[in-house]
Amino acid sequence: MMNKGAFEVAAPGSFIDEPAGERVNLMGLGRAGLEAFFGTLGEKPFRASQVLKWVHQFRVRDFDAMTNLGKALRSKLAEIAEIRPPEIVSDRMSADGTRKWLLRVDAGNCIETVFIPEESRGTLCASSQVGCALNCTFCSTAQQGFNRNLRSDEIIGQLWLAASLLERPGREHRAVTNVVLMGMGEPLLNFESVAGALDLMLEDFAYGLARRRVTLSTAGVVPGIDRLSGRCPVSLAVSLHAPDDGLRNELVPLNKSYPIGELLAACRRYAAANPKEKITFEYVMLDGVNDSPDQARALARLLGGLPAKVNLIPFNPFPETRYRRSPQARIDAFRDVLLRAGLVTITRKTRGEDIDAACGQLAGRVQARAARVRRKQAAARRPEAPA
Ligand code: SAH
Repeated sequence: MMNKGAFEVAAPGSFIDEPAGERVNLMGLGRAGLEAFFGTLGEKPFRASQVLKWVHQFRVRDFDAMTNLGKALRSKLAEIAEIRPPEIVSDRMSADGTRKWLLRVDAGNCIETVFIPEESRGTLCASSQVGCALNCTFCSTAQQGFNRNLRSDEIIGQLWLAASLLERPGREHRAVTNVVLMGMGEPLLNFESVAGALDLMLEDFAYGLARRRVTLSTAGVVPGIDRLSGRCPVSLAVSLHAPDDGLRNELVPLNKSYPIGELLAACRRYAAANPKEKITFEYVMLDGVNDSPDQARALARLLGGLPAKVNLIPFNPFPETRYRRSPQARIDAFRDVLLRAGLVTITRKTRGEDIDAACGQLAGRVQARAARVRRKQAAARRPEAPA
């Protein structure tokens, strides 16, 4: 069925004009990487700032247009380097203005990126892996299986593409004011590439975003949370989804490795090292599974004493899921328990559902390594569908 109001925007294949070569892709290099690169060419470190600006602020791909580099350097760069974003396979706009891109990252794999416009800000939801290995039972990315980590250039390339399509270079007005790593994948299981891309998001000569405008969401990779705190402490969101280990083991199997107690201890350390920002706890609302008033009270007790805010996410269904979204009244009642306990709580507005761009609906096209086995196991676990 054609979704009402949703439509195709840009022509597929835009931005790619030649096959991938052996050239160095400057897209993913931060200041340190570029300085090292220019060092090997016998050039001064300040070249890094110049090129960062050309690539990420003016979004120029043609070295010849980089007029503050000498002619010889420009032709050298054209020979050995390139500025290559992922290839756009499709570009769709939801009736509510949410836009979703399907991006090819290699011959067999595509990822998804979503832009969510709001009155006072524009948020880009970027992916960090091709698929996901965590197997959360309520997430459609999990059904796709896992193929590989994205490189820094493929992560920052999503922001580069969105800015290119939405903004005019050099203008003060910014369409993308916030970035959330809440697309496909678990960012803390791809630490180095994600950190490299975060550096570019924060870098003044690139996107210059404030830390509080960049959010990394994790299913709870405890060592990764500590590493992030020391390396690049952006805003942290944690996918909690259950107030006790029994249920969380089921919904987020990673909980068996890092149970709630250890996860919240890591959150306390993160908060102590970064005292200005609250940690967001995400909680998907699954009808009859995790949405009772008792569970709300247990959640409030758990988060007591933490600088926390809670983000309730109405479950977004996808084909063959065993779950249903909690009714609105139940979501409101759950929220009210948390509010009465003094927790800042908001219910996330569902956006882009008509183009499958809502939380947990990003599927991309993943050549999964073990997807068939996984699907069989999932089918065996799935209870009888309700009539
Ligand atoms: N792996 C990271 C990044 C994904 S962020 C993480 O787990 O945090 C995407 C958010 O949407 C997570 O909180 C995820 O648990 C939630 N989500 C996944 N599937 C969903 C669905 N079907 N409906 C609503 N939210 C979902």
